Amino acid sequence: MNKIFDNTQNAFSLKSDTELERAYFLFKLIDSEPLVKIGTAVTNFALKAHLPVEGLIRATVFDHFCGGVSEDDCIPVVDKMYNVGGVSSVLDYSVEGKEDESAFDDAMNKTLKIINFAKEKKAIPFAVFKPTGFGRFELYEKLGEGKTLNEAEQIEWNRVVERFDRVCKAAHENDIALLIDGEESWMQDAADDLVADMMRKYNKEKAIVYNTLQMYRWDRLDYLKKLHAQAQQEGFHIGMKLVRGAYMEKENKRAEERGYKSPICPSKQATDYNFDDAVTYMMEHIETMAIFAGTHNENSSYKLIELMSHNGIAKNDFRVWFGQLYGMSDNISFNLAAEGYNVAKYLPFGPVKDVMPYLIRRAEENTSVAGQTSRELTLIKRERDRRKGKN
Ligand SMILES: Cc1cc2nc3c(=O)[nH]c(=O)nc-3n(C[C@H](O)[C@H](O)[C@H](O)COP(=O)(O)OP(=O)(O)OC[C@H]3O[C@@H](n4cnc5c(N)ncnc54)[C@H](O)[C@@H]3O)c2cc1C
Repeated sequence: MNKIFDNTQNAFSLKSDTELERAYFLFKLIDSEPLVKIGTAVTNFALKAHLPVEGLIRATVFDHFCGGVSEDDCIPVVDKMYNVGGVSSVLDYSVEGKEDESAFDDAMNKTLKIINFAKEKKAIPFAVFKPTGFGRFELYEKLGEGKTLNEAEQIEWNRVVERFDRVCKAAHENDIALLIDGEESWMQDAADDLVADMMRKYNKEKAIVYNTLQMYRWDRLDYLKKLHAQAQQEGFHIGMKLVRGAYMEKENKRAEERGYKSPICPSKQATDYNFDDAVTYMMEHIETMAIFAGTHNENSSYKLIELMSHNGIAKNDFRVWFGQLYGMSDNISFNLAAEGYNVAKYLPFGPVKDVMPYLIRRAEENTSVAGQTSRELTLIKRERDRRKGKN
């Protein structure tokens, strides 16, 4: 297959020389594991102590990985990506770890607002939310373990269900697809049941509600097949975001501490095969499914291109989307869009201190592994050289 992702000119066409230099500097910084560890600790401390570090965070990691503090801040970025590169956006309210009812209502209202935005803007084809943005982690966990909720908890859970229902209903009424993120396995069962109920209700004509399958879990293909059997019987479509999964260390650690079998595949290669198998399965049943492939892996992206062509699926078929995170893998996003595929980037936003957990995950993911320069840094270096006429 033609290696379309090597074109760094397309990839960085939105970045001026200065922006490219800033990105180079940033990835150079987070390339070093000790520096990321120290930086994370110092930043967390400084934020807790109310030291004036927000400006520094904004000028470095925040502006690279986020669209702004509010959804309105994101609009210039949304427009630029769409108008120049043909790449859509998924506005992602990335505030994490808030555990009170008013924060859950806020998150729901943000999602409703984004559904409204999306209705008006072709460049925003999806809305998204996190299950634990709408309700307390412990409730999901307790339900997932098959425990009975006490009366107060049941009332609280009813509110979670209501929040899910309100956003899914609004998405359905406005014909906007809605992605629901995947989180830790010990809360996911309860979320899965709830999302499946939403699919039953709102995916009768096509996929509006999308759950997430984290393919680093060895049980997810079976889950997809079981859900598919139910969908066939009951007559609903399945929407799925496929990812590898972001909580591997946490999952393995908990399993080891508590002495149960880890839900994570035994190796990276096993995760890769599992991811490909799920993509293949969905492509083979695309008449009642829709897929959002959330990955920065070039091979997985090439594989999906191949499967689309093999199954006679048009590049811009509304049931197949490629997704990357803002600030990462522009070589995949912009080259795919240039070829006519549907591409959307998650564009996180929120107050600086509240999106820190998200930013720390991005920094950790971009530190070099076994001395190898990180993927992003390699690409940026190549583009710098190209602009300087070195290749
Ligand atoms: C648009 C988008 C949306 C996302 N949404 C979510 C979400 O809702 N929930 C979520 O959890 N994550 C989400 N992610 C993050 C995603 O799960 C991955 O962490 C990230 O994309 C890196 O995986 P990759 O497919 O890009 O490729 P790669 O870099 O090829 O894969 C890295 C991944 O492989 C897996 N892996 C690595 N080593 C091993 C090993 N030894 N054994 C088994 N598996 C291994 C891990 O999952 C690791 O993150 C999202 C990513 C994108 C791009």
